[in-house]
Amino acid sequence: MDHRLVSTILALLLSLSQAHPLVDLGSEGAYYDKKRIENAMKTFNTETCIRFVPRSSQRDFISIENRDGCFSYLGRTGGKQVVSLSRYGCVYNSIIQHELNHALGFYHEHTRSDRDQYVRINWENVTPGTIGNFQTEDTNNLNTRYDYTSIMHYGR
Ligand SMILES: [Zn+2]
Repeated sequence: MDHRLVSTILALLLSLSQAHPLVDLGSEGAYYDKKRIENAMKTFNTETCIRFVPRSSQRDFISIENRDGCFSYLGRTGGKQVVSLSRYGCVYNSIIQHELNHALGFYHEHTRSDRDQYVRINWENVTPGTIGNFQTEDTNNLNTRYDYTSIMHYGR
């Protein structure tokens, strides 16, 4: 199945259970390449049914901040939800979209329940403390093909 179509289907399913994500670039936005972040969000708006909208006074929202590294919680946590995009190495289209996908509830592609049929993890090469990034999750893969090129897949 076409990757774009899969993304659209997954996004559609997400939108059924989640309100449109609200975004607050915060006061640090001035230090960012805000345009890059907005462009990455626009792709969601044009390629999926997810719509990122600027926050006004909503209680639950994503706050994109310049913290130490690129990271996000998985799925909606409620209240202010930080997505960290350090301006030192995270403000790239693929990374922005990767972290936003985590906030939307997507796991890494290489942790889906059927991944052992497609990739082999060289555990001896996994940095201690990052093992969680390689453990499989109890995912329903919705009959989608394993996607080696997914933005949510680590490099080989
Ligand atoms: Zn990730």
